[in-house]
Amino acid sequence: MRLLIAEDEPILARQLEAALTDAGYAVDSASDGERADFLGATEPYDAIVLDLGLPKVDGLTVLRRWRDAGLAVPVLVLTARDSWHEKVRGIDSGADDYVAKPFQMEEVLARLRGLISLLPLAVLWILAALLLAL
Ligand code: CA
Repeated sequence: MRLLIAEDEPILARQLEAALTDAGYAVDSASDGERADFLGATEPYDAIVLDLGLPKVDGLTVLRRWRDAGLAVPVLVLTARDSWHEKVRGIDSGADDYVAKPFQMEEVLARLRGLISLLPLAVLWILAALLLAL
């Protein structure tokens, strides 16, 4: 399983990278929105962890670009603590789930497991819908 972590705070990015690598994921990192946008659009990730407050291009803009381009990869958004409007905007922009900062690493891991295991079911539904449409 391959993940992209888009987070600009170096300590948090390193913690996420270490925890997710320990959990068995192959992890790439991006510390700004431009790099995240490029990697997410060109590499086949199983899921993406996306901070909304990124330099150069903010996370919501990056997420909207991916969704406008038809990229269906599950995205777990990291929001500022208690910022409900960020959650709403994130979900409106195509986020699959979110975690509020500060978070427990276990919560990120659990939510990622949920997103990644949901994917095959989503693919099955799409296939079923396509077959029914024939
Ligand atoms: Ca940030």
